[in-house]
Amino acid sequence: MGINKIEYKQIKEYLDERKVQLVAVSKTKPLEDILDLYNLGQRDFGENYVQELVDKQNQLPADIRWHFIGHLQTNKVKLIASFVQLIHGVDSLKLLKEINKQALRSERVIDCLLQIHIAEEETKFGLHEEELSMIISQLDKLEMRNARVIGLMGMASFTDDMGKVTKEFQKLKALFDKNAGFLAASSRFSILSMGMSTDYKIAVEEGSNMVRVGSLLFGQRS
Ligand SMILES: *Cc1c(COP(=O)(O)O)cnc(C)c1O
Repeated sequence: MGINKIEYKQIKEYLDERKVQLVAVSKTKPLEDILDLYNLGQRDFGENYVQELVDKQNQLPADIRWHFIGHLQTNKVKLIASFVQLIHGVDSLKLLKEINKQALRSERVIDCLLQIHIAEEETKFGLHEEELSMIISQLDKLEMRNARVIGLMGMASFTDDMGKVTKEFQKLKALFDKNAGFLAASSRFSILSMGMSTDYKIAVEEGSNMVRVGSLLFGQRS
């Protein structure tokens, strides 16, 4: 098996031309595969499970930037707060407050993305537009200096209907633009994390500047 080096180089070239960041999603994949990609120059990796992330972080080079892209439980924030680069899936004020608390303990500032619910499926996590507005309206007065909201993240529906996927990405981009101005004063609101293996090119066309790609690089997960 192993990683797909040719695919990696093609994806990298496509994304570099468009100034889009690549997060290589390595969940369930072995250390050797991550190291192979690391040796090609990749530094940003994404994981979904806290314990797996902690184990890997302990054993792999210290200059890897680890992204947490899964659903993060409040009681597990403390396990990753000392090293995590970016938490993509923040979907409540409660979680954001805990990240702020644990980041303060680690004497760090942790960057976060608010996850927006754009797919029709009920199973996908994420905030609805009203909840997003509510959180954003409170950010200033809460003064969370150690948890910094720097953008939005979303996942499109799992479907072959690319027209539908396109519409969902457009919806997220519109929300991003709407809130970017509002937040820009207090923070660096600049990251729009959308697009995975099957839809990253559509996402980039629709304005994504960070994609999370797993199976195209590492092969299918079992
Ligand atoms: C697993 C996962 C990915 C990567 O999915 P692929 O289809 O393998 O590219 C991206 N984002 C999130 C949130 C994931 O859970």
